[in-house]
Amino acid sequence: MRVLVIEDEPDLLSALAQSLREAGYAVDCAEEGCEGLFKASSGGYDAVVLDLMLPGLDGWTLLRELRKSQTVPVLVLTARDALPDRVRGLDAGADDYLTKPFQLAELLARLRALIRRAAGKASPRIAMGELEIDTAARVVWRDGEAVPLTPREYALVEFLAMHKGELVTRTMIYDHLFDEEDDSMSNLVDVHVSNVRKKLGKDFITTRRGEGYLIHA
Ligand code: CA
Repeated sequence: MRVLVIEDEPDLLSALAQSLREAGYAVDCAEEGCEGLFKASSGGYDAVVLDLMLPGLDGWTLLRELRKSQTVPVLVLTARDALPDRVRGLDAGADDYLTKPFQLAELLARLRALIRRAAGKASPRIAMGELEIDTAARVVWRDGEAVPLTPREYALVEFLAMHKGELVTRTMIYDHLFDEEDDSMSNLVDVHVSNVRKKLGKDFITTRRGEGYLIHA
């Protein structure tokens, strides 16, 4: 899953980006409102973390502009704990908010909830035959045993599972699993798919030649 963080405080931005990467997300950053809106409007994100007080374009305006074209879940971060600011953020199109200072564990839990809600999944667990994906623990279980997957392999399985029954193109996988600083070649997707098949069974992921991949519902 790929997340955009829009935050003008450099220390907080880099700490957030690092924590999110450690939690398995591909992360892009913007330090200024206009750049944030430009990136967020590109449509490749599973969630956006948005500071409200930003140079260039404030968070409320950014949100209203973004909502003209994108339904991506937005978690607003604000130093202001005043009720009118939070209400204004939610009314401008935010899906959730967190007041600074916040605990990282809560930010991560809220992001997971936003992302699975956006995928139409209320439960953090996705059952698929003999497999179960625990999106909170980031573990795939088979018959009660955790399957050892690398973070990228897990991310691939989770992304396909969130789109269970739908064709997922290689471009979608590339957009949602890799961030803009990731210079890995897109053909690595095939390597990850191949490794996942070795671990979860060769029929787990179906290839549609020239189109992409899917996990059957
Ligand atoms: Ca700020």
